[in-house]
Formats: sequence, C-alpha cells, structure tokens
Amino acid sequence: MNNRQIMIAFADQHLAPYVIRNDELIPDFCPICHGGENGDKHTFALNLNEGVYVCKRGSCGVRGRFEDLSERFGERADIVRSSTPKSKRSFALPNTE
Ligand SMILES: [Zn+2]
Repeated sequence: MNNRQIMIAFADQHLAPYVIRNDELIPDFCPICHGGENGDKHTFALNLNEGVYVCKRGSCGVRGRFEDLSERFGERADIVRSSTPKSKRSFALPNTE
C-alpha cells in the first residue's frame, strides 16, 4: 500500500464518513473535538500528500502528523516519509556589490 492507501484505510476505520477533495480527506467531524458544542462539520482535514492533519476550529486547532493521529487510535502508521526535507530552500546570499 502506498501512503495514500494507508491513510484512506485508516480513515475508513476511524474517520468515516468522509469525503476526499483533491488531496484532502475531510471527515464530517474532527476526530479530536467532534465538532465541539455546535457540531461543526468539515473542520478537519488530512492531507494525503503530506501526511499531516489540521482542525480549523478555533477552540480545537489540533494539528500534527498522520503518525500522531493513528497513535491516538492505538495504531501504528506505516507511511513512508522521504528523508529529504520537502522544501529545499536555497539560501544563496544576494550579491551585494
Ligand atoms: Zn477539532
């Protein structure tokens, strides 16, 4: 299974019902705050490319890596991360003459 399939399999078990929009997997309710008192929907998104999640509810605001999320559910995530940082910034100094 690739990362995406692993995350979707996890979501099938723990985050359903959900929708996938572009590369984001969005369950009806955040698995951490469950939408809070107002039952806010679709505040949570799991990015299937980056393997990171975030909840946009102000009083929740959880964010982290998929591995952390699966740990909350007592599972071990086996997604593969490349060891190279994803943003390769060049810190070339400007030419000051
Ligand atoms: Zn939340």
